[in-house]
Parts: sequence; C-alpha cells; structure tokens
Amino acid sequence: MIFDKNLHEECGVFGVYANHNASDLVYYGLHSLQHRGQEACGIVSNDGENFYIQKGLGLVTEVFNEQNVAKLKGLNAIGHVRYSTAGGGGLENVQPMYFRHHTGNFALAHNGNIVNSNELKKYLEDSGSIFQSTSDSEILAHLIKKEKRDSNRVLAIANALNMLEGAFAFLILTNDKLYCCRDKYGLRPLSIAKLNGGYVVSSETCAFEVVGATYIRDIEPGEIVIIDKDGLHSYFFSQYQRHKMCAMEYIYFARPDSDIEGCNVHTFRKESGKLLYKQHPIKADIVIGVPDSSLSAAIGFAEASGIPYEMGLVKNKYIGRTFIQPSQELRERGVKMKLSAVTSILKGKKVVLIDDSIVRGTTSKRIVKMLKEAGALEVHVYIASPPITSPCFYGVDISTYDELISAHKTIDEVKEIIGADSLVFLDENKLYEAGKRSELCTACFCGKYPTALYQSYKDANKDGKF
Ligand code: SF4
Repeated sequence: MIFDKNLHEECGVFGVYANHNASDLVYYGLHSLQHRGQEACGIVSNDGENFYIQKGLGLVTEVFNEQNVAKLKGLNAIGHVRYSTAGGGGLENVQPMYFRHHTGNFALAHNGNIVNSNELKKYLEDSGSIFQSTSDSEILAHLIKKEKRDSNRVLAIANALNMLEGAFAFLILTNDKLYCCRDKYGLRPLSIAKLNGGYVVSSETCAFEVVGATYIRDIEPGEIVIIDKDGLHSYFFSQYQRHKMCAMEYIYFARPDSDIEGCNVHTFRKESGKLLYKQHPIKADIVIGVPDSSLSAAIGFAEASGIPYEMGLVKNKYIGRTFIQPSQELRERGVKMKLSAVTSILKGKKVVLIDDSIVRGTTSKRIVKMLKEAGALEVHVYIASPPITSPCFYGVDISTYDELISAHKTIDEVKEIIGADSLVFLDENKLYEAGKRSELCTACFCGKYPTALYQSYKDANKDGKF
C-alpha cells in the first residue's frame, strides 16, 4: 500500500534498560518503527535520579539530532512514535508523557486505544484529577497514582491496568525500573530482547536487528514484565488471557522483517497470497503487487499460480510526506509522484493486481485507472484480506462505518466503483491458516469485537445509519 489509505497504526514504543547510550539506541529503535506513526515522536531517559525529555511534531529524523539526543542522559530510556487519532495531534499529546509525584516520578509510553476512556476520565475528574492532555494514555498515570490499595508499585500498576478496557502496550520508566505491560486480549504486540547485559523492548522485532539486540520472547497478554538491576521479573495482572492479535498487524501495519508471536510478517503475507490463489484461481499474464505491504502476498500468489511476478508498479522512495493538495488535478499529480505504472511491462497484459486491503476504495480506483492508462488490457483486483466492514476501536484510525466502502456496498458495486474487471477478497478463515493461529482479532472484517466497547460504538454510529 502506498497511497494514504486512511488506515494508520496509531503508535510504536521502544525502551532500553541498562545500556550505555540508551537514548541513541532508542533513536535507532524509533527509526525502525517510523512506519507505525509519522506525526510526532519523543524520548525520555533516566540516569537513576533525573529524567530528560525531548519531544516534537514530525519524523524521528526531524525531531532529533546529535545535540539533543546527547542531552538525554542515563542508561535507561523509552521512546514513542505517534500517529495522532485519539486525543488529537497537539504537542501536549506527544509521548512519552512525564509525571511528577511525591511517591516517585515516572514516564509512560502507550500503543493502542482505551475504549472506556470517557468513563474513566469522568471518574477521575470527579475525584479530583486534572488532565494535561486529551490523550487517553494519561489515564493510566492517574489511575496508578490514585491506587491506594497497595503501596507496592507493581500492584498499583496491576490494579490500574485492570480498570482499562481495550488495546495497549505500555512502557513505564521510573528511576530504577522499566515496566512493560500488554493488554489481556493480546491485541497489540510487544517483545523483549537482550543487549550487552541489559534489555530492549519494542512494538516490533524488526527494531532489535538494528540495535544488535537478541530476541528473548514476547510479553504475554495480561503480563507485566518488570526490568530492574536483578533482571526480568514476570507478573500477571489478569487471569483472563487471549491471543487476539490484530490481524491488520500481519496484513498491513508491521514491517515484513518483524516476527509477531512466532510468525514472520512476510511469511504470513506470502501465505495469504498463496491461499488467495487457491480460493480464487485465475489465468493471467502477470501478477503485480502494490508496494510495499502487498509485495509479499503478490510473490506468494505468483508462486502458487505459476503466473510471472512482475514489477508493474514502482514506488518513489524519496517522496516523504505529502502536502494537502487543494485540487483534484494536483492530488492526481501527487499520486503519480508516489507511484509509477511501468508501461513496457503492463502494455497489452491481463494483470492480477494484489493489494492488502480496501478502505475507502479511492486508492484502488486510482491504481486501476493508472494501470489501464499504461496499457493493461484487464485489471483483476485480488485483495489479500476480507472486506473491511466495521470500524476499529483499538488504535487504528478507521473509527466510523461511514468511511468504509465495504460497509455500504456489495463486492460487485465496489468492483464497478474502482473500475476493475474482477474483484475478490480472501476469506476470513484463511487469515488463521496463513498465520497458523487459532486466535486473531478480525473485528473490522466480521464485527465481532473481543472487548466491551463502551462509548466507542455510539461514536462510530453517530451518523445514525447503523
Ligand atoms: S478491529 Fe481490525 S484493525 Fe482493529 S485491532 Fe481488530 S483486526 Fe486490528
């Protein structure tokens, strides 16, 4: 997927414990997680006594430089990349967030979305809390400090986490510990690795490779891993545990070189391409994929079908972020700046176009048009996931039914709208097969949510259509 499909992962987190140049390592870690959020980023470090903070709006390379990273002292640090949806994009919402408290200061970074945030915020405000930001991530900090049942910090964190409903991977950095927490449904990934006698934690394992860390294991759903001078300690805050990993992490968000819960993302996508061919066999001249996230599925499809895999679309890697373009004509030109159709490969060919997903349909329509203008005789659009028919409430910015073409149109109608000669989707049960998994979150495909939804469902239905 190359165009702005209005489908974004909200965040990525990265932490380092007991390593020299901890902030440098977090910088490189965040760089590897940049695909999970491009709007803002931050690093908070700790030298055992003091916290050092640097945050800003923009890419990792725009916010950080040698000088400001050098000021982030200490052996421990956490970082965050953000795509702003929940709470908005202001500087006050940029993470990690830092909190001062007489029982101990701490910093916090969060990936995911809390679905009962309105209820918790009201409860906290009614009992005296004043929020600095509109991000729901701040809620955990207030809950931890409100927790008077136990002076033991891990129990205070555990009790606070048990009040949250939704998807989360939290990193909490104190003067002497790093707490790594994952929601009991297992919706968002979080893994841990070893580096130079210390530890590294990341939303995705691809970042371990870059800093030279050795993967140890994934943090389990409902688990808090506490890292301190004595090593790793495990604590489960919930007896209820599921492995409802977000299927979209495999399909689209995560980097192909990441492993999520024992399954490599490229391997998953390649397998989904093979299964797509088995489900919908076709005779064609070439198979092409939409760069970059659909290329693995296209390779799998080509392998299973024997149809040659070709580079029919080429991505301009140096385009960076696009500007908001005022007119249709300029928007079209913007699209062509990002992606080119290769006329000499496409001309006169019956083409199978593999894409990972369809959200609004505008992207697919533009690509089909581009391929036909380049001379393709037929364009058959093969989607390596099921139609997205329901919003996501767990940190992916598809929050209303209104914006989802497949929530309103039949597959035939979508085919007509995007101008394809045929359109097919992968069955939901094939996602489990591709990942060799018995559990996944597939709520945006089937509408069966693994958690209670609270106010989110009402917000998604505010147009009154559903
Ligand atoms: S609803 Fe879809 S995008 Fe959201 S967590 Fe579940 S699978 Fe992922």
